[in-house]
Amino acid sequence: MTIRIKGDLGTEKEIFDILVQVARCDPLLTTGRYYADWKVNYAGSKPAAAAAAMLHDLCNNDWSIVIFGYPSDANCPDGTPIISIGGGTAVGRDIELYFDAYDAFYQGYIVDGAQGGTISIPPPVLMVHELSHVYHTVHTMAGKTQMDEEIQAIVVENAFRGQVGLPARKSDSHWGAPGVPSRPSPPFPYCIAPYQGWNCGCHIATAAIGAPSARSIVEFQRAVKEFETWTVGETPLLRPLLDAYQLFGPLVAADVRADPVLRADMLRDVVRPAHQLLRVVRVCLDTPPEDPRVAAEIAHAVTTYRVA
Ligand SMILES: [Zn+2]
Repeated sequence: MTIRIKGDLGTEKEIFDILVQVARCDPLLTTGRYYADWKVNYAGSKPAAAAAAMLHDLCNNDWSIVIFGYPSDANCPDGTPIISIGGGTAVGRDIELYFDAYDAFYQGYIVDGAQGGTISIPPPVLMVHELSHVYHTVHTMAGKTQMDEEIQAIVVENAFRGQVGLPARKSDSHWGAPGVPSRPSPPFPYCIAPYQGWNCGCHIATAAIGAPSARSIVEFQRAVKEFETWTVGETPLLRPLLDAYQLFGPLVAADVRADPVLRADMLRDVVRPAHQLLRVVRVCLDTPPEDPRVAAEIAHAVTTYRVA
């Protein structure tokens, strides 16, 4: 076995999307069902970038690594609230990596910056840090202390920060907490996966709302991923909408980013209604159609939508 994402926590898509960012949308990183879990595959030869190379190594060895993506209010198996650590590792039957899949309720985590003050540690950066702990558990650092391992994790983390243009973390401070950084740093440059997978290309929504980690973007991405294959009879319901969106998304998004008035219009007229539609579909899917009136109501709404 290699890396598995725990499949019964409801966060597997979030975790895989974070790994996609670590690999900078390398299409050779894929996932597939493995019993109740998801196995992470990283095909091809070792990538050049250090963080991706580390992920590639962990996906292609004999160790059993399991990533537990927790909601921000959950506790790790030993009772530690995940929000008090953001991420952590433990060695048991498997090598376990615990991770807050929702970035401290989307507030974000902060750490000490190399230039003083605090800086943000976006989920992909935190993931690189924790993967480095796993990596150094697998490739034993003979004769090294716990502090050496922490310093090494920050070396790897800072290499990734350099790769994506984020400020460096203080090399000897392992402190971290939820919060707002005292030093504003550029947003994490989320890449768009060039393939159909869990990483939807939510171009317009991202440009209109701002930071891709905003709550509505995360919800929006999750909804798109869930519903893009949803069909009634033979009709893929949202596919035509998504096709158009993928086609025009990047072009329109560039204009939206540059024009604040257009940005406000898009947010009001396109993004929020689309988000609302997806939410309605979600509620419908969650409602068991035991009541024939509700079922009829949904069927009518679906027909109206298809006609439109
Ligand atoms: Zn650490």
